[in-house]
Amino acid sequence: MTKRIEIDDIRQDMLSLGLHFASEALPELVSESAKTGAAPHLLLANALRVEVANREERRIKTSLRLSGLPPGKTMGSFDFSFQPSVERSRIETLATCTFVRQHETILIQGPPGTGKTHLAAAFGVKAVEHGFSVAFYTLEDLLHAVRKDADRPLQRLRGVKYLKAGLLIIDEMGFQALTRQEAGLFFRVVNYRYDRGSTIITTNKSVKDWPEVLAGDEVMATAILDRLLHRCHVVNVTGRSYRLKDLEKRLQ
Ligand code: ADP
Ligand code: MG
Repeated sequence: MTKRIEIDDIRQDMLSLGLHFASEALPELVSESAKTGAAPHLLLANALRVEVANREERRIKTSLRLSGLPPGKTMGSFDFSFQPSVERSRIETLATCTFVRQHETILIQGPPGTGKTHLAAAFGVKAVEHGFSVAFYTLEDLLHAVRKDADRPLQRLRGVKYLKAGLLIIDEMGFQALTRQEAGLFFRVVNYRYDRGSTIITTNKSVKDWPEVLAGDEVMATAILDRLLHRCHVVNVTGRSYRLKDLEKRLQ
C-alpha cells in the first residue's frame, strides 16, 4: 500500500517537472522491475528513455508538419536502382546533414519525373531528424510569400520561415520566369541566408539558363548564383522519368 502511494508521489513530481511520458509509464516500469529484480538504476534509465524517445518523436512530428514537406518522400522510399545516375553513397553522405550545419547549398538538376522533388524532400526529412528546422516551398509559393512581404524591411522579417529555417528547400526553379521585382526579392532571400542557413534548389534548367529565368538580368543572376554556388553540391539526375515508368512497361 505504501509503495502505491510512493509511486503516485513520484508520478506527481514527474508531472511537475514536465516528464509526462515517464510519469505515464512509471507504474508499469516499476512492476516490471519488481518482477525481474533488475538493478534500480535501470528503472531510472528506462523511465528517462521513455521520456526522451517520446519527446523526440513528438518534436519530429511537429517539425515535419511545420516544414510543408510533401508526405512520404523519404530516403527509404527512394529506389536508387531505378536511377543509377544518382550515386547512393554520395546521397547518404549528404544525408548526414553536414551541409546544413555548414550552410551549404545542394542543387538538384535534371529533367521532369526523375525524382528531384523526392530527393529534396528526403533531405528535408533527414534534416528534421537531425534537429534542424526545414521550410519547403515550390518557387511559386515562395514568390507569393516574398511578394507579400516585399514592403517590410528585413529586420522585421527575421522570424519568417523562408529566412529563418535552417534548411530552405525551393522546388521547381526554372519552370516560370521571374519578373524583375521577383528576382530582386529572390536575391534578398538568398543574400540574407548566405552564411546563415542552408538551401536546396531543384531545377530542370542548367545554371547557364538562370539569367533567362531571373528576368533576363545578368547582373542579378550572377549575384544570386555567386552566393548560392559558393559552397554547393550539385546532384545531376539524368535518368528516366519515374512517372512514365509504368507507361513504358505497358507500351512494351
Ligand atoms: P521531379 O521532381 O524530378 O519531377 P518527382 O520527385 O516529383 O520528380 O518524382 C515523380 C514521382 O515519382 C514522385 O511521386 C516520386 O516520389 C516518384 N519517384 C521518382 N523517382 C523515384 C525513385 N527513384 N524511387 C521511388 N520513387 C520515385
Ligand atoms: Mg519536382
